[in-house]
Amino acid sequence: MLFSEFFAPTSKDIPSDAKIASHQLMLRAGMISQAASGIYYWLPLAVRVLEKIMKIICEEQDKIGANKVYFTTIQPAELWMESGRYDDYGKEMLRITDRKDGKFLYSPTNEEQATDVFRKYVKSYKGLPTMLYQIHWKFRDEIRPRFGVMRGREFLMKDGYSFASTFEEAEEIYKKVFKSYIRTFKRMGLTPIPVQADSGAIGGNMSHEFQILAQTGESTLYYDKKLLTASDEELMNIFAVTDEKYDPKTSPIPKNELMVSKGIEVGHIFYFGKKYSEPMNAFVLDKNGQKLYPEMGSYGIGVSRLIAAIIEAFHDERGIMWPEHVAPFDVTVLNLHTSNKDCVEICNKIYRALSESKEVLYDDREMSIGEKLGDADLIGIPWQIIVGEKNLSQGFVELKNRKTKEIIKLSVDEVIGRFIGK
Ligand code: ATP
Ligand code: MG
Repeated sequence: MLFSEFFAPTSKDIPSDAKIASHQLMLRAGMISQAASGIYYWLPLAVRVLEKIMKIICEEQDKIGANKVYFTTIQPAELWMESGRYDDYGKEMLRITDRKDGKFLYSPTNEEQATDVFRKYVKSYKGLPTMLYQIHWKFRDEIRPRFGVMRGREFLMKDGYSFASTFEEAEEIYKKVFKSYIRTFKRMGLTPIPVQADSGAIGGNMSHEFQILAQTGESTLYYDKKLLTASDEELMNIFAVTDEKYDPKTSPIPKNELMVSKGIEVGHIFYFGKKYSEPMNAFVLDKNGQKLYPEMGSYGIGVSRLIAAIIEAFHDERGIMWPEHVAPFDVTVLNLHTSNKDCVEICNKIYRALSESKEVLYDDREMSIGEKLGDADLIGIPWQIIVGEKNLSQGFVELKNRKTKEIIKLSVDEVIGRFIGK
């Protein structure tokens, strides 16, 4: 992609209404723009990151046998009347009336629809267990949308739903999803802290939140320091709770081994038994021809919130430092002297060679060196290849690692070799 063709309206101004780093940086890097309170346009740089995040999620969901579908964003209110949640959900739900006075709503979550799809098709115990998931937009009319996309009103969520014959089977699926979530977040470069959670409005009796440590997080976490070095297998059994559940009088962990940190909730999983299957009459016939109401669970990931959480975890005073697997591009080529023929020729050569196997942003814009270097650090692509006339006259270009800030001089062939065949 040529930067001259790339829609990335970067800005040097620090937006006065953005209080946390991720919100400021997303605005400054031209990733998002507010359309209304808690509702954002997603611009190309952010979309590229969203797509990377979604790809990781989908690959990990595939591995555990979850099926991708799209439920709908607009749902008939009837389904929620069946489950009994229509009135309970309160003002967070955006209620819609169509031209025939039919009652609809914009999905804040999709348990009812998942149950509806299940009951339409699965009639026998042989169809169990099964898992459906989607990545789709949600709307919740939050009282206090804030911190940009961190707590939006419209946001992108991965939501999955499982159906099992027995509690044991449901528990097995829950554990499988738990481990898969740990892998999912680690692939994004994050260190997830799974905490035992109150299950809140969705209800139930087994629930974990996945938190990312960040000073700007809204949750306070209390956890055994062993958690930071535990294997994925051990994680579920190590003490970790949010402040809602923490009671110093009953804490099983001595004070000197207890960590207290702020966290951002990026995922939440629940087991809730027959909470929807029974009232919505979603049953299958068991071996003896008896009605069996499946044991259900739901599994959420805050896809759009993750972008902000990743930036909170990986930034410095100059901008974003994307972890490799979620970066919008693998590498950027900066032409510092666009009127110099040699610079243009070498940049084109590097750009063409690297584009065969990497995602490359070539900054071919005519603007000052300072602005180019500033934008590159702001946007945070992991590697910068800096081509300037002085170095080039001596046969070199610079390769900068955005995160470590290390800069090395390499010949053109060497720099190409670094990225090709890697
Ligand atoms: P919170 O306590 O932050 O409101 P929640 O418990 O209401 O979250 P869930 O219903 O479990 O959230 O949704 C699954 C995931 O969706 C959450 O873990 C979070 O990452 C994300 N999420 C929830 N609400 C929002 C929001 N308003 N904006 C962005 N992401 C959100
Ligand atoms: Mg909420």
